[in-house]
Amino acid sequence: MINTVLVNEKENLVLDFLYYWNRPITAGRLKSRLKFKHSTLNSILKRLEGQKLLVWEKYKEIKLTEKGRESAMHVSNHHFIIERFLKESLKCSEELAHNEALRLAGAFSCELIEEICKKLNISHNDSHDHFCDIRKYFTD
Ligand SMILES: [Zn+2]
Ligand SMILES: [Zn+2]
Repeated sequence: MINTVLVNEKENLVLDFLYYWNRPITAGRLKSRLKFKHSTLNSILKRLEGQKLLVWEKYKEIKLTEKGRESAMHVSNHHFIIERFLKESLKCSEELAHNEALRLAGAFSCELIEEICKKLNISHNDSHDHFCDIRKYFTD
């Protein structure tokens, strides 16, 4: 089992963004990409930095740490698995499934994800990024 820190929706979005962006970015640029308020982004970045998920020195670019990359991958997998479950079992629309999955990813325990995996006959630790085209939300 992967050991990670569970995160809330907005923190998850920042982690996902940095993971798929895959290079350093300034706070200003990140703020406009994610359309967060300055104060919101600042507190998220401080919390993620406190958990050693990213490195952010004042006036420098933000970078995910190795732990941050692992957490992003893990929480993304929760997102993809929940999204697939919502689409296949509950017949939710793609948009609803994606938005709800993003919100719920960090809140679902690995134990609950395992139960969904049993139902879908998939494995928690495989990569499930084909269930959601997450890059389309982040690219230029
Ligand atoms: Zn999604
Ligand atoms: Zn998990």
